[in-house]
Formats: sequence, C-alpha cells, structure tokens
Amino acid sequence: MSMFVVGLTGGIGSGKTVASDRFEELGVKVVDADIASRVVVEIGKPALSSIEGEFGSDVISDDGSLNRAKLREIIFKDDEAKSWLESLLHPLIGQHILDEIASATSRYVILVSPLLFETTQFQMCNRTLLIDVPKDIQILRTAKRDKVPESQVEKIIASQMDRDQKISKADDVIVNDGEIGDLISKIDKIHQRYIELADG
Ligand code: ATP
Repeated sequence: MSMFVVGLTGGIGSGKTVASDRFEELGVKVVDADIASRVVVEIGKPALSSIEGEFGSDVISDDGSLNRAKLREIIFKDDEAKSWLESLLHPLIGQHILDEIASATSRYVILVSPLLFETTQFQMCNRTLLIDVPKDIQILRTAKRDKVPESQVEKIIASQMDRDQKISKADDVIVNDGEIGDLISKIDKIHQRYIELADG
C-alpha cells in the first residue's frame, strides 16, 4: 500500500517548524526537504564532485564540504548555472525524499518544504497544507527570531511566492495569526482528518 503524504509549506517564519514539530509529537513521520537538499551534497556524494567539476574548487570549503555561500553567489548572477544546478539536484532530492517516505511506518507522512509549490515536490503529495500568516505578523516574528532588520525580512518575503498564489494551490490552509497554542490546536484537529483520509 502506498503511503499517504501531506505536503506542508508556508513562507519564511510562517510556523512550519512549530507545526511539523507538533505533527512529530503526534507520531507522524516528518520528512524535511531542506534536510534532503543538504544530504545529497554531503562529502563523498557524487553530486558534490559534479558541482566541483562544473564550478571549480572555489565552491569547496577547506574541510571538503560544499561552500553554500559561494555557490549561492555564483547562481545568483548566472541563470544558466542555476538551471544546471537545479537539474542536477532536484531529481536527487526527490529520490531522497521518496526513500524517506518509503521507510515510514506512521499512518501518514508530512513532507515539509518551503518550496513545495515552486518545485515538483507537491506532486509527491496526496494533499497539501499551507501555514498562512498575515504579512505584518510574519515580519515581526521572523525579524525577532533571526535578529535581523524588518526590511531584510520584507525583501525575502518579496522574493518568495505570493501568499494568494499559495492559498489558491493548497488543499488546506491554517492561519497562524494567534498564539502558539491556537496553532497546536489547529494541527491536532487536522491530524484527525488526515488519519481518516489516510485510512479511507
Ligand atoms: P522558516 O521557513 O524561516 O524556517 P518556519 O515557517 O519554520 O520558518 P517557525 O520557525 O516555525 O517558522 O516560526 C517562526 C517564528 O515565529 C519562530 O520563532 C516561532 O517560535 C514563532 N511563532 C510561530 N508561530 C507563532 C505563534 N502563533 N505565536 C507566536 N510566535 C510564533
């Protein structure tokens, strides 16, 4: 039987981590696309050699690991380099996520990904859940958490997919505009629904 997968997404500082931690507490296996994207370029993985072959030893740190800041800098100003990198990494990340999903023993799986709708990852999901937050709250919480100016958070938000666009793509939307306890209650409630859907 194939696993029921719920994709969890949201903009920066929307509450994905708080939400996925709660799903984990409820016994749901959480697969993290961010972690997958790091695993595929670990030291010794073929993708790291390919990246070094393409961009040179500049993108490798002294300890042999990927220099992400350097790589980001390169692809930021070079669209072709960006697509080369994406076509190398996206299938590997996708396969790693599928392997993690396959090893799960919970009644369903949460796939948490900030780029669920921006990649093909949403296609791995039976259902998608957006953690949505009004922009002013999102800015305040993120600036506080990351100890950065609000203007910097605003720039990141502007670079991410529109809130409305995400709302229109998601099957389920939880608005995280109250206290943490309210978010937890909403997760607990939707968890019951997902168990029904997974079992049905
Ligand atoms: P990112 O994509 O940047 O990793 P995220 O979506 O995982 O962010 P969280 O880290 O879960 O977001 O939440 C952002 C910050 O807001 C955290 O400091 C978190 O503790 C806080 N937070 C989340 N929900 C609430 C809430 N309902 N009330 C107050 N603070 C909250």
